Order: sequence, then structure tokens, then C-alpha cells
Amino acid sequence: MNILILGSGGREHALAWKIAASPLTTRLYCAPGNAGIAQEAECVTLDLVDHTAVIAFAKDKRIDLVVVGPEAPLCAGIVDDLEAAGIKAFGPTKWAARLEGSKGFTKDLCKANNIPTAAYQRFKNAREAKDYVRAKGAPIVVKADGLAAGKGVVVAESIKEAEDAIDTMFGGGLGQPAWEIVIEDCLVGEEASFFALCDGDTAIALVSAQDHKRVGDGDKGPNTGGMGAYSPAPVMPPVIEKRVMDEIVLPTVRALKKAGAPYKGVLFAGLMITKDGPQLIEYNVRFGDPECQVLMLRMMSDLLPALLAARDGQLKNFDLRWYEDAALTVVMAAKGYPGAYAKGSVIEGLDKAAEVGGVEIFHAGTIADGPRILANGGRVLNVCARAETVREAQARAYQAVDRIKWPDGFCRRDIGWRAIARERP
Ligand code: AMP
Repeated sequence: MNILILGSGGREHALAWKIAASPLTTRLYCAPGNAGIAQEAECVTLDLVDHTAVIAFAKDKRIDLVVVGPEAPLCAGIVDDLEAAGIKAFGPTKWAARLEGSKGFTKDLCKANNIPTAAYQRFKNAREAKDYVRAKGAPIVVKADGLAAGKGVVVAESIKEAEDAIDTMFGGGLGQPAWEIVIEDCLVGEEASFFALCDGDTAIALVSAQDHKRVGDGDKGPNTGGMGAYSPAPVMPPVIEKRVMDEIVLPTVRALKKAGAPYKGVLFAGLMITKDGPQLIEYNVRFGDPECQVLMLRMMSDLLPALLAARDGQLKNFDLRWYEDAALTVVMAAKGYPGAYAKGSVIEGLDKAAEVGGVEIFHAGTIADGPRILANGGRVLNVCARAETVREAQARAYQAVDRIKWPDGFCRRDIGWRAIARERP
């Protein structure tokens, strides 16, 4: 089969690595890709906003399946357009992708289907939103609707903070004024992520993961796209996984089917594991980045048939096998990230680092300059390792990190701390 992956980050490198290993793969392309992905796939310059160009390329190369990595093309309807042109694509339609694109839509869907999530209300103006906040008290969570690249959520510790967030969001402080905000109760517990493959009718469980969003050690400093992750999440034993499937994922898939917009693709549930069980914080309509990297390391089965079965509505009797091992990834970022950072610095020692047992290095933002690898983004490398325990995986990952010579980069030194603390006798 000829496969085209869309995207250019560490998630797409991990997908490319796994799909390249499939005996079903004849030719693998990635648009636009990066220097690491180029080791697995033929990278092609395509503007993902230009669906016509993507379709033309897919037709020309007789692509059998397009695998869409990031959310923006999904929310823009690239799967609808590819399928309309007769090209199979893995991922949800534009309508179903509203699970990520619109918080209000998802909250209403949860409420109508008794899916556990924080109590909430939707608001179109600041005055009513503030009245609600005052009536509810703090802490309280304020969310802008629409894709706000992770910046649209404020967990307010005081009423004043919540009111300021409301003013910022309606006032255009996030770029453009929010047309709607959702205010919800603050959930208490431990966060975890869970992934499922969906085929429109049903879903099969993948595995759990936890990530580190803050830039600094000890989970301090500003939020980022994710500085590291590990799988499985110790806070999600099999009984909790089953509850997530039964109480959250499967009711969602059934509800969307009933609404005439069957969900196909990967469903990424951001969860709070509370004392009363799992509650949905949010959905994403694609693999997490960097969670995908640890998932791919733990997946024993061939990924490609699973993606095809999801696209073809054939997951009912499908089964995936996983390594019992833990996997962990450390993100190496350019100094300054998540603020301003420079591009173009030279990275050395990648080959030596990759020789550490159980280690796999995925590129998140790199570009090749002849034989040299240059940093080309904020998050630049994902140094991943698999081992029997999170502690061992962490040790291997940092052993590899220490072989990488990149003075302009940095990483957290404590990825996995929460899981490792639990592993202690
Ligand atoms: P979201 O973009 O909805 O995932 O929210 C980003 C982050 O805000 C989450 O990962 C949580 O840490 C936090 N958050 C969102 N909603 C809630 C909530 N209802 N209670 C507590 N924390 C929340």
C-alpha cells in the first residue's frame, strides 16, 4: 500500500516509524515532514491548507490511505475532501472533529448522554458569565470556545482571576474575541490521557499516558505543547480504563453515530481521575504529541491494519497487542521555548544517542542541511525509551539525552516523576 502522512512533528515521525515497519507498506510519503521523518518516508512539500493540492498528490501517487496527524486539517475538513475525491483517509470528518474544535459542542453532547464531565454553562456575553462566576465561587474554570492552541483555558483560583479571564477572552486577548465561553466546575484529582480507535460504530481501547505540560522541572513555569510523556499512566489501572470506555468513549461514539456524524479516527480523552471515577476534561480528535510517541513504542501489533479497520468500519473484531513495558519520552526544546527561540542551531551526537538500548529518537522540529541536522522549531527532538519500568525507561532516555550535543537546547530532567514515585516500594 502507498501511504501519505500529513504533518511535520514528533507525532508524525512516530507514526511514520511504525507505518514504515508494516509489511503492508510499499511507499510511504509525508507532507511536509522533517529531517527525522525523511529517514522513514519520502518528504514532500505540500501546503496542508490547500486540499486540492493534497488530493492531486494522493491521486498522482496512488495513495491507498492518508493518515492525518494534526487537528487543524481535520477541523478544516481534509478528511471530507479526500474521501469525496475517492481517497481513503484516517481521521474524523469536519463535523465529528467539533469534539475538539468546540468545547460547547462537546459539553452539550456529554450532558445529553450522561457522560461524566464537570458541570458547566455556556455564555455569549461577559456580564452573564461574571454573574455565574460570582454565584458559583472559586476555583472555577473559564474556557474560550474554538481552537485556541492550548491557551484558551484558565483555571481561576479567585473570582477576580475568573472575571479577568472572561474579559480577556471576550476582549480579543487570545488573538480574536471569543464568540462563546464555557465556565465549568474545577475537578479535583490526577490528570491522565486515554486513547481509543473509533470506526464510526464502535471503539477499541488503545492505552493510557500522562504528559508534562509545564516547561520546568517540578511542573513549574509556563504551559507548553508538552515537555514529555509516559505510558501507561499508573493512575489508570484496567478497571478505570474499562470505565473510561464504557462511560465516556463508547457513549460518545454512539451519540455521534446517532447524530449522523459517525466518528472515525483516534479519540484522545483528556481525563481527571477523581475519587468518584474518571471525568472527561476534553476531547482531542488526533493522537497527542508527545503521547503518540510513547504509544507507538508500546504497540506490538502492526498499526496500519488498525488504521484501515477504523477507516473501513471494521474494528468490531479487531485486537491489538501491546508490550507490557513502560515507555517514556523526553522533549528537547530550543532555549527560550515556549517563548521566543532561535532556529538553525546544529545538533550533534544523535547517532550515539540512538545506540542506547531501548531508545528511539523522533524528530519534532528539525531540518537537514547536507549531513547536518539543524533545529527548526520550539520542540525539536523526542528522546524516547522503552523498559520494564518507568524508572528504567527514564534512565535510558536521559542516558541518550546526555549523548546529544546541542548547546542551544534544553529539556526537563524529571519526566515521569509522578509514576516513578509510585514505583517505589
Ligand atoms: P483543556 O484545554 O480543556 O484540556 O484544559 C487544559 C487544562 O486545564 C487541562 O489539562 C487541565 O489541567 C485544566 N482543566 C481544564 N478543565 C478543568 C476542570 N474542569 N477542572 C480542573 N482542571 C481543568
